[in-house]
Amino acid sequence: MMTSFYPPQRTLMGPGPSDVHPRILAAMARPTIGHLDPLFVTMMDEVKALLQYAFQTENELTIAVSAPGSAGMETCFVNLLEAGDTVIVCQNGVFGGRMKENVERCGAIAIMVQDEWGRACDANKLEDALKAHPEARFVAFVHAETSTGAVTDVKAMCDIAHRYDCLTIVDAVTSLGGIPLYVDDWGVDVVYSGTQKCLSCTPGLSPVSFNAAALDVIKSRKTTVQSWFLDLNLVMGYWGTASKRSYHHTAPVNALYALHESLLLLKEEGLEQAWARHQQHHQALKAGIEALGLDFVVPVAERLPQLNAVCIPEGVDDGEVRRLLLEDYQLEIGAGLGVMAGKVWRIGLMGYACRKENIFKCLSALDDVLARLHAPVNHGVAIAAARAIYA
Ligand SMILES: *Cc1c(COP(=O)(O)O)cnc(C)c1O
Repeated sequence: MMTSFYPPQRTLMGPGPSDVHPRILAAMARPTIGHLDPLFVTMMDEVKALLQYAFQTENELTIAVSAPGSAGMETCFVNLLEAGDTVIVCQNGVFGGRMKENVERCGAIAIMVQDEWGRACDANKLEDALKAHPEARFVAFVHAETSTGAVTDVKAMCDIAHRYDCLTIVDAVTSLGGIPLYVDDWGVDVVYSGTQKCLSCTPGLSPVSFNAAALDVIKSRKTTVQSWFLDLNLVMGYWGTASKRSYHHTAPVNALYALHESLLLLKEEGLEQAWARHQQHHQALKAGIEALGLDFVVPVAERLPQLNAVCIPEGVDDGEVRRLLLEDYQLEIGAGLGVMAGKVWRIGLMGYACRKENIFKCLSALDDVLARLHAPVNHGVAIAAARAIYA
């Protein structure tokens, strides 16, 4: 017989979703009201203002797409690109590859600039590609590559793109709320993110922001956007960017309560404080991981605090470790993606999951499980190493 579903209380330290703050879950359980109810409309205006704060932008067109990060990605590409456009995509992991897929499905041409997985995108290589392709109109890249844990210098990339008259499309799904991101100051023209990484909200919404230059491109399109649902010309009416709100689709009302609450939490903590918290707990985790004798994939200068890709020691069964962590500790960490499958673990320190108690839980659980599997690591020293960072 089927009964109500009661999920266990896990600790989510993978690449997303991350632990959801109890205040966000509580917000989600509040009564559903009509999506054109005046009170709901007021809340939507607050969501927009809070998103502008999170992105550090004054962009008028700053909204949440009613679908997960991948839909935010698609929203950016389908609205900006037309068939025959050339886009330079800098790829250093799985998500850059998805950008290429999006470009090509728009009938546009993707010029790929490949960087090593586990490293940042190289601004010099981007410049070479721009010189070789004067027809390029857009540059796309990922700020925080969740598949490898590498961060790319957004400002350097945007400066170069603009020197060659290209607009920039930046994936900030994992970076928003976790590391510094200044959309306006850094010259990001188009940005998309997700709710379930460092915002610690439930999965299913995608904040996006477009500046005036990007809006001009959208308004001067020769062809209509091939996606009806993601067509910003229609979505803008629904978000009331043109003063009056009109029906486009039924807003995911309770999901938007959740986003509102998560952004409020971020505002209350303060962006800089949230970034510093991610950095501090990353340092403690790093000390513990290194004490165990495990290596990081990414060089220190290009390493994300919120996504820690750690090399799996020789001879250790990746799946067995993750199974034991889940079964005995209710702890989820991530597997490797793409070429890194079976070679790395991805330990997320995102949003509400990024707390001292989770650092200790993760390190002691790993220590125990690796000991049981007779892995060649240093046992019994990780916790002290992490504690020394907090002292
Ligand atoms: C998670 C992620 C996405 C996709 O977001 P979904 O919410 O899973 O659709 C896109 N880009 C990056 C860098 C991500 O980490």
